[in-house]
Parts: sequence; structure tokens; C-alpha cells
Amino acid sequence: MEFDLISRYFKEPFADLVQSRGESVLAGIGDDCAALKPTLNHTLYISTDTLVEGVHFFSDDSAHGVGWKSLACNLSDLAACGATPLGFTLNLSLPSVDENWLSGFSGGLLDLAAQENCPLVGGDTTSAGSNTAKTISITVFGQAPAGHNGFHRAHALAGDEVWVSGTPGLARLGLLLQYQRVGQLAACCKQSELMRVEQLLAALPDHLKQPALNALQQPVTRIRLGQQLHGLANACVDLSDGLGGDIGHIANSSGLMANLSVLEIQAMWLEYWPELARSPDALELLGTLVSTTLQGGDDFELCWVAKPAHHNAIQSIEPRPRRIGTLQQGKGVWLAREKAGPERWLEQSYNHFAEPRP
Ligand code: ADP
Ligand code: MG
Repeated sequence: MEFDLISRYFKEPFADLVQSRGESVLAGIGDDCAALKPTLNHTLYISTDTLVEGVHFFSDDSAHGVGWKSLACNLSDLAACGATPLGFTLNLSLPSVDENWLSGFSGGLLDLAAQENCPLVGGDTTSAGSNTAKTISITVFGQAPAGHNGFHRAHALAGDEVWVSGTPGLARLGLLLQYQRVGQLAACCKQSELMRVEQLLAALPDHLKQPALNALQQPVTRIRLGQQLHGLANACVDLSDGLGGDIGHIANSSGLMANLSVLEIQAMWLEYWPELARSPDALELLGTLVSTTLQGGDDFELCWVAKPAHHNAIQSIEPRPRRIGTLQQGKGVWLAREKAGPERWLEQSYNHFAEPRP
């Protein structure tokens, strides 16, 4: 039974992809170990992430979307290090065998795996007993030329510019929409923010709702961007817990402070939602969007820092990244506003063991 499932949903559908990698997969599903052969003079990059039903995805989320996202959040870590995927393993712990779910899940995994040329090479499948949550644990293996600096978080320098790809905060907007749909918005934001978030969701035009939901359910992967940043970025992170916390990781590890421009974050939103400029509530809505961006979560866009000398080279990357601040001597994450002085950002981005929000 177990071997039959593994073969049907994980070995057979991925066989062509494994085949297409030629020499780099020496052994895949069916052996005791997978064997991968990195290119000569390359460094191996490894990252692992776990998704738990009820924590990282809803029980009624599409299985295809869950498959896609499970791999996307792992590939995003490779992207943030400038690595290229070699393959991945999958550990599945399930309460029962639901073939409909497995088929959708395997399809979502395969769609992204094929897009990024990242074959499934092994894993483990266990039953955790009924009444348990589905748990999906993926480990990705990637490589980058040995001379590449790896974009380590501690390698940022004072004076570096802070850049982001895409529209960080969009996935959180999608999450807020999803909670609103099931009448549980209060479970996903602070009591003190609830009215402003409701105002924001009411103002959001219908045609911008689907892209926000897509950003949450089927996030992009930025492997190509990570490669383009070789020789340009000093440090990089993927935005999985929110911009405020994630840029905080680079700043703290490098002993610096991040100074983010509120005006630039607002300009990013005005590009996504141009009609907003004409709204009488524009300032208030933009304020809520800035908080949404900083608290964020699940964007899987990249945030990196680079010397100002690389400004033009970075601006010529497509789609065009946005410079949203600088790193300076000091500590913490600060928000520079147009008229008032800078203000320290003290909110929390996502933390699994945090106390409930007031
Ligand atoms: P072992 O007993 O040697 O650990 P298993 O019975 O767990 O082997 O798995 C048999 C083969 O199927 C192995 O090659 C393993 O890597 C692969 N495998 C098991 N579960 C999965 C999965 N969920 N996805 C991909 N490969 C899997
Ligand atoms: Mg096993």
C-alpha cells in the first residue's frame, strides 16, 4: 500500500524530471539514499521547512496549492542564498490516505518542480494516526559556484541600500481576505488594528483581490533573481515572516540598523493600486498598507542589501526591484517618514512561539 502510493504519486509523476537532470541525480526514489552530483567546484546549499495543517495552510485549501507552496517556501531559501536547485526530498506524515488530496498535492509539487527544474529524489511517508494534522517537510538541495559569497546575513555593510522584489505584504493582504471570508478577521490581526484592516479590505478593488490571494496560495519563486544578484548583493533574505522582522535579521546579524523609507513603501503600493491616490482615505489606507508590509509573512519575495555603487545594475533587473531604505550604524529597524523624525519599528512579525497578540 505505502509503496504503491509512493510510486503512484511521487515516483512516476516525477520520473521525466529526474531523467532530464541526467548525471546530477545518480539515484532517486527507490534506493536507500538519493545520490546527487553537484557541478565541479560548486558549494552545496541545503534548507528544510515544515508545513503543518492548521498552522501554515487551511484544511480546505486546495491540495494543489499546498503542494506548490510547500516546495515554494523551500526554493525561496535557495533563492535567498543565490543557489540553483539540484533536487528535494519530501517527508509526509498523514492521518489517513486521501487519494484525492494526494493527487492534487503531487500535481502542485510537480508543476513548480518542473518549472524550477528541481526533481523529487526521495523521502519518507508515515501515518501519524487519525486525528493528527497533515505534516509536510521538504528539504531542498542546491548549488552555487564556490566563489559566490552566499549572501550571508552578517555580511551587510553600513551605507548599503535595502532592496525588495515584488510587492511585499501582498500575501498578508491575501491572508486577511481569506480570514475575512470565513468571518474570522479578528483572529489574524490585533484588536487595535481591526477597524483599519476592515476599512482597507472594503476599499480594495475586486480586481486586486485575486492577485493578493494568488500571492498567498501560489507564491512566485525568485531563483533567477538570486542568480542575477551574484556579485551585487552583500546579504539577502527571503520574506517569509514579514519585511520588518526579516530585514531586522540582516541588520542584527551585521550589527547595523535598517532605515526604511515609508514614502517608498507607499509608492510601491500606489504602483500596485493606482486608484488609491484618488481616494479621500488615501493616507489612512496607505498607513495600514505599510503596517501590512512590515508585518507581512509568506511573500517569498527577496530582500537584499547592496553597495550604492551597484544601484544602476540592480535597477536594470526585470521585474524592476525597489530601493526601500539604507543600512546605517545603529540598531534595530527604523521608519523614516517625510516630515516627522525616524520612528523605531517595534511590532512583531510572525513568530511561532510568540504570546497571543493583545
Ligand atoms: P526506507 O525503509 O529505506 O527508508 P522507505 O520505505 O521509507 O525506504 O521508502 C522507499 C523509497 O521511497 C525510498 O527511496 C524513499 O526515499 C522513497 N520515498 C518514501 N516516501 C517518499 C515521499 N513521500 N516522497 C518521495 N520519495 C519517497
Ligand atoms: Mg522510510
